[in-house]
Amino acid sequence: MLYVVPDYYKEFHCIADKCEDTCCAGWQIVIDKKSLAKYRRIRGKFLPVMLFGVNYFTGTFRQDKEKRCAFLNDENLCDLYICQGEKSLCKTCRQYPRHIEEFEGVREITLSISCPEVARILMERKTPVTFISKEKDGEEEFEDFDLFLFSILEDARKEMIGILQNRKLPIRVRTLLVLGMAHDMQVRICRQEMFDCFEVMEKYTGQRAIDFAEKYLARESTQNQSFTMAKEVFEYLYDLELLRENWEVLLQETECLLYTNEKIPYEEIRREFAEWEKANSDIEIHLEQLLVYFLFTYFPGAVYDGEVYAKAQMAVYCVWMMHELWMARWLKNEKTLTLYEMTELVYRFSREVEHSDENLKQVEKRMKNIWLNT
Ligand code: SF4
Repeated sequence: MLYVVPDYYKEFHCIADKCEDTCCAGWQIVIDKKSLAKYRRIRGKFLPVMLFGVNYFTGTFRQDKEKRCAFLNDENLCDLYICQGEKSLCKTCRQYPRHIEEFEGVREITLSISCPEVARILMERKTPVTFISKEKDGEEEFEDFDLFLFSILEDARKEMIGILQNRKLPIRVRTLLVLGMAHDMQVRICRQEMFDCFEVMEKYTGQRAIDFAEKYLARESTQNQSFTMAKEVFEYLYDLELLRENWEVLLQETECLLYTNEKIPYEEIRREFAEWEKANSDIEIHLEQLLVYFLFTYFPGAVYDGEVYAKAQMAVYCVWMMHELWMARWLKNEKTLTLYEMTELVYRFSREVEHSDENLKQVEKRMKNIWLNT
């Protein structure tokens, strides 16, 4: 079995009570069967605590009114862990923030940026991320697993990450090349012309594609188009399952600041923010790291549904929306923004979108038939 992890994987250590948020609040944690059976066997003085904290009918941890796990104490530490030891944690709690994607003979393990500590590591990172593979004992076969498509997707992802990490090009050009590649691959996959996908990869890694992308962006959309599209796609976020109450407040605030602002038009905010970014932050590096994160995590999942284009678009959409949140916060702060605030918005976005399978599915579905004009 091949295990693949990002090179910062071992840098992560849970900072527990020093964490500015907690992973034990805001979403319903489903307990795996083995842990649930173990919890049923607990006796003695911890039994009433277990009965209070675990809903054995739904197989979940109970939560208080603020959606905090019943075992989370006032110091933001887990009482189950403290009293029953690390092994008592259920699979989800043991794994988090590790996110595992399973393919035949391959496990890809990423660290979710919904954890503030992981988001910090990624946002402070300056050098391009690489991925480490390690072969370990164990083989398996999946029923109906399309190994050929999977190998195409792996090759394509490698090329896409190479494009995203080409810092000689502006990030908008890199993004457009990735979307173009995904789009053209989708056409070939739908026509079952699988071998042609290699030509597509070659095309988008060549100089002609770069020249085309640069020219396209130079003559690209009128100002109103970019406002209309940004407003339209931002509104998708309201349709998602709400995990935390304060998320909706953030969305409304962002909407007022950017899209219904009577004092400053959207395009002017965008232009000024772009100037500020150039002078004040490593914005292109942050965008690159986030795009690589989303693309690496979700793109190969297309082996199960063939939705190559929607998965690449979803990566771009998520990063674009984070950028909109940064821009609104910058405006609210009277045109300043710290890396700490950017990181906070990154993990809050990830918590809302990535921690609900339903939300991920919905975003991907929306991305199928549009062309993101970032
Ligand atoms: S969110 Fe991350 S750092 Fe915070 S408690 Fe959970 S795993 Fe630890």
